[in-house]
Amino acid sequence: MELEEDEYVEYVPVAKRRALEAKKTLLRHQRKGKPIRDTGSSCALGDETLDDDDDSPPSSSANKPPAAESKPPPSLLVQATQLKRKQPAITRAEQLVQQEIEIIQDLLSSGRKPLMSVSELAKGIAYTEPLPTGWKPPLRYRRMPSEDRDAIRKQWHIVVDGEEIPPPVSNFRDMKFPDPILEVLKVKGISRPTPIQLQGLPVVLSGRDMIGISSTGSGKTLVFVLPLIMIALQEEWMMPVGPGEGPLGLIVCPTRELARQTYDVVQQFLAPMAENVGYPELRCLLGIGGIDNRLELASVVKNKGVHIVVATPGRLKDMLAKKKMRLDICRFLTLDEADKLVDGDFEDVTRDIFDHLKGQRQTLLFSATMPTKVHEFARRALVKPVTVSVGRAGAANLDVIQEVEYVKQEAKIVYLLECLQKTPPPVVVFCENNAAVCKVHEYLLVKGVDAVSFYGKEMEQTDRDRAVALFKAGKKDVLVATDGASKGLDFPNIQHVINYDMPAEIENYVHRIGRTGRCGKTGLATTFINSQQSETTLLDLKHLLQEARQRIPPVLAELSDPVELGVVGTAANADGCAYCGGLGHRISSCPKLEQQRSQQLASLRSRDYFGSGGYRGEM
Ligand code: AMP
Repeated sequence: MELEEDEYVEYVPVAKRRALEAKKTLLRHQRKGKPIRDTGSSCALGDETLDDDDDSPPSSSANKPPAAESKPPPSLLVQATQLKRKQPAITRAEQLVQQEIEIIQDLLSSGRKPLMSVSELAKGIAYTEPLPTGWKPPLRYRRMPSEDRDAIRKQWHIVVDGEEIPPPVSNFRDMKFPDPILEVLKVKGISRPTPIQLQGLPVVLSGRDMIGISSTGSGKTLVFVLPLIMIALQEEWMMPVGPGEGPLGLIVCPTRELARQTYDVVQQFLAPMAENVGYPELRCLLGIGGIDNRLELASVVKNKGVHIVVATPGRLKDMLAKKKMRLDICRFLTLDEADKLVDGDFEDVTRDIFDHLKGQRQTLLFSATMPTKVHEFARRALVKPVTVSVGRAGAANLDVIQEVEYVKQEAKIVYLLECLQKTPPPVVVFCENNAAVCKVHEYLLVKGVDAVSFYGKEMEQTDRDRAVALFKAGKKDVLVATDGASKGLDFPNIQHVINYDMPAEIENYVHRIGRTGRCGKTGLATTFINSQQSETTLLDLKHLLQEARQRIPPVLAELSDPVELGVVGTAANADGCAYCGGLGHRISSCPKLEQQRSQQLASLRSRDYFGSGGYRGEM
């Protein structure tokens, strides 16, 4: 198509157009007295082009030179830079702390409160006062000056946090336990409270919510079992639990074996009580996967009513969903190994359980490891909580001698035999997975060692129970197990724990070695390390050994350590990673957090939106 002559517009090359634009901008700035940015291309502007093509209206100020005498105000960018320079410089350590606070805040705000029910959250119900129990420490304890209370706490390395903390009580009789309970304690050879009991029992008996942090084997179980029995007694005397009713109190444990063990402790106290004249029959039910408890559900809950239930999350959820049991009158809730229940695989199931609670309850959380994140999470949902810690959360039991040895992967199995000679039995050998357990177990059997094995869900529950029972009864010398046996299980007088595989998470290491050195006795732990472990794991181990004043093997001493190099502030490192408690790294490089984030992402990607239901398996 041909163009009419008057329609024709002369083509101006791009470079020339840019130059024209730049010239216009320059003139505009000169008129307004603004400083001019160096725009590169505009510098190449020819003078004649500038004059010829300026089509902007003439102005009186246009010819004036840029005002040198009245200096233009600095641009916002310049002002911001100047302000930044004036601010005191923050150190790398402060930057890291700030960064960590942000990560923790982010983690805390990213989820629903796991320790409250949906209806409480929806209705905005917030309990402000603890439930009354009627229990008070004897007068002399109540009148004890705060300096004396602090002196006792200091003596036993007890650190408390919270409002109006009840005083420590130094013997069981002063805690006003009924005679049948005192009698059982005597029979069990328990004469004086351990530090966590000394302070924890008065707190729980007073009806306060509590976060109890104490090393493995320190006697935590009695801190929640005894007050729960007292509550059940009190309620039964006032208004007996009837058919279909109950429980009054619930204890949730992450593993079946721990639940069974806790149930056994409860029964040890309940059985003699029922035989005592003047004491009512109190009923306890065990709810764990792998066993058929329909009969007990019918005979205990349906026909008589139940006072105490000890359960694992999966089975509990199942019983509640099938309406075999209700939590309408439950007013006492304990989460044992709470960090595992509140955070991680069980988080969703724990939330579901809270949805079944109908009123205010006393909530207790116990663990040897309690990362800051879980602690903060819990504090937000509890009522005037008291935190009682004996030693740093996540610290190793000081009664355990920790030996770490470099053993090549292929040499481990042979060296294990030699290592078993270090102490007499019983010994627990921990392996990373089921396959390793089977391999080590078979090897030991071939070599004539009287060993049993224990591993996760793939093992029949009856076989698991049998293995634990045989080992507990002293009929087997060695237990070869996965981490499932490391949480809270109380095997009597374990002489030696061998970590055939060093666990990736330092929390698991703390739980594992805690199977020995229990309640004041000394134990030994030997850990094999080699190039299979990540540097973070080894650094965590090194710092844990340092904290417990144990010998550091050369292979760990030689590690390039960001804490020692000052890359990570040592002061800020005192409590370790806020997510997993490891002392050798910070939350920003936490392998556990990274792993959980990638798991979350993976589960989001593969989520079944059409609802297959179910829950991730309990051990
Ligand atoms: P736990 O940390 O609750 O698993 O308890 C570990 C072991 O310590 C169990 O065998 C308890 O029977 C025992 N135990 C609990 N309290 C005491 C105490 N005050 N004195 C001596 N042993 C105790």
